[in-house]
Amino acid sequence: MVSAIILAGGRGKRMGSEISKQYIEIKGKPILYYTLKKFIDCKSIDSITLVLPEDEIEYCRREILVRYSLNIDNIVAGGKERQDSVCNGLESMINTNIVLIHDGARPFVSNKIIEQGIKFAKLYGAAAPGVTPKDTIKIKNKESFSVDTPNRENLVAIQTPQVFDFNTILECHKKIKKDNVVVTDDTMVVELYGNKVYLYDGDYTNIKVTTPEDLILAERLV
Ligand code: C5P
Repeated sequence: MVSAIILAGGRGKRMGSEISKQYIEIKGKPILYYTLKKFIDCKSIDSITLVLPEDEIEYCRREILVRYSLNIDNIVAGGKERQDSVCNGLESMINTNIVLIHDGARPFVSNKIIEQGIKFAKLYGAAAPGVTPKDTIKIKNKESFSVDTPNRENLVAIQTPQVFDFNTILECHKKIKKDNVVVTDDTMVVELYGNKVYLYDGDYTNIKVTTPEDLILAERLV
């Protein structure tokens, strides 16, 4: 059994818009529509759980799921931080072997990236797509002076879906909750407890629509 969690539990403050960023329309359809469609159309996914802010569940059901006839299996209320939303999604699942965790704000993920994630997670227990950063990346200190320049060849900008053996990611998420650890993605969660994550080629088009400039590119990518 392969399950997907689509995370749309955030408000997207960096977009500076009135509505949550997942409902912003690109060529007449909401961002979340495109994301959900990719997973619904993927033949290897058996079940889809959507995580939403509690007070947006009814709106989303009506305006996206019913309106565009999108069939998903489960809707779960999100939490304060991204990691709380993931944990709520994981804890709502039973009977799954592999779980994909994907940002609702990444509508341009390809079927190939999804399928490869499942393949590599089955082989290695955890896998995530990524791309080499186009810019040189610096480490700075508190006074804003550059202190280090990591070799670009060793750097990877990580995307989603991040794909895991279900029991491993569930156990690790329960542990970070207990240990009060703050993370920015799910690969960090399993790494913290000694698990290896296989990194494979993502795509520069698999962007997370985060700030207003991203919408210009998103219009072209659709
Ligand atoms: O904030 P960030 O861009 O890292 O969010 C990535 C994804 O996580 C978004 O799709 C967002 O909706 C989701 N998220 C969530 N619950 C939160 C915060 C973010 O599901 N509390």
